[in-house]
Amino acid sequence: MLADYVERCPHCRVSLQGDEIPKEQQKSYNATHFTRKIGITKLEADRILYWECPDCHNNWSLK
Ligand SMILES: [Zn+2]
Repeated sequence: MLADYVERCPHCRVSLQGDEIPKEQQKSYNATHFTRKIGITKLEADRILYWECPDCHNNWSLK
């Protein structure tokens, strides 16, 4: 089953749900929609360190 909940910004509560992923790609993304949140990384870190909201530009840590 694909997760079907709307992710929201923890600061301004805006929906972070983006466009719907084409049906044939949903399995590889393990989601039904793209996300609008922005992954913030640093040059020395080879991974996303925290997320940024595209609307209020606050950020929060990965879970
Ligand atoms: Zn926000």
